[in-house]
Amino acid sequence: MTKSTLRIEVLFDNERLSNDLEIGWGFSALITRGERKVLFDTAWDGAQVLQNADRLGVSLEDVTDIFISHAHWDHAGGLPQLLRELRPARTWVPASVSKHQRHELSRHTEVHTVQEPTPLGNDLFSTGALESATQPDEHALVALTEEGPVVVVGCSHPGVGRILERVRDEYGAPHTLIGGLHDFSDFKLLAPLKKVLPCHCTTKKAEILAAYPHSAEACAAGTHLTFG
Ligand SMILES: [Zn+2]
Ligand SMILES: [Zn+2]
Repeated sequence: MTKSTLRIEVLFDNERLSNDLEIGWGFSALITRGERKVLFDTAWDGAQVLQNADRLGVSLEDVTDIFISHAHWDHAGGLPQLLRELRPARTWVPASVSKHQRHELSRHTEVHTVQEPTPLGNDLFSTGALESATQPDEHALVALTEEGPVVVVGCSHPGVGRILERVRDEYGAPHTLIGGLHDFSDFKLLAPLKKVLPCHCTTKKAEILAAYPHSAEACAAGTHLTFG
């Protein structure tokens, strides 16, 4: 069965494509497929995410799901403001989001605490939570497309290699990787990918773009990708 079109729009990032967009330390992207609209992370200030969406002509009113990659302020901080404006049916969080925070979330939305690889619906998946020695557990979102799995990451604290390995084991060879790659420097792991967009906290963006001129692209608020 052919898979429906997937669209990814970066709403908030440490960089921006145009000066009318808010900028800061954090990440948020909207993943749209069919009737599912998944807000991946909320940056630190929900008002700025809403403002950027508005300026990009993206409606968040009908967001169906919120996916929190990990319990860091620059990914989950925007939640309270956004939950005042949005009515997501479901929120997907790793267990590193505290039980009290999950309780607060459950007043607004169905809360799914993800441990194992989990289908979200519409050929969207969570990798399942991956542990990190020094940082909170983190999960990544995988969208299966005709080209292969597209992987959206928050900060990649558990390690880019482990995330890609989990995707390969569960869903097949990753096609695209977009999101924060933190202090990742084992660049050869990116060689099999057809597309890489190092965003947010990636410290070695310039090196990645130089190492993979044909597959790596710059990422910023306003960047969008379409598959299928
Ligand atoms: Zn971050
Ligand atoms: Zn982080």
